Amino acid sequence: MKPFLTLIFLAASSLPAFAHAGAHDDLGGIASAMAHLLGSPFHVALVLAGLGAAVAAGLVLRRSRATASRTPGD
Ligand SMILES: [Zn+2]
Repeated sequence: MKPFLTLIFLAASSLPAFAHAGAHDDLGGIASAMAHLLGSPFHVALVLAGLGAAVAAGLVLRRSRATASRTPGD
């Protein structure tokens, strides 16, 4: 369990190393930032990867808690 969560954490923490080329200096407000985030396949892929990792971590934690709460007689 812990090695799996550690692997997810390490994989997620290394994502900024794959930043796309170019700066974000031209983003002047929330509207332009949202347009950039939603219009860039790179950012959309990162958001989807983050959501997938969060869902996977939640499922693993739920399964772990269900296993831990069982009594030996169940
Ligand atoms: Zn960007």
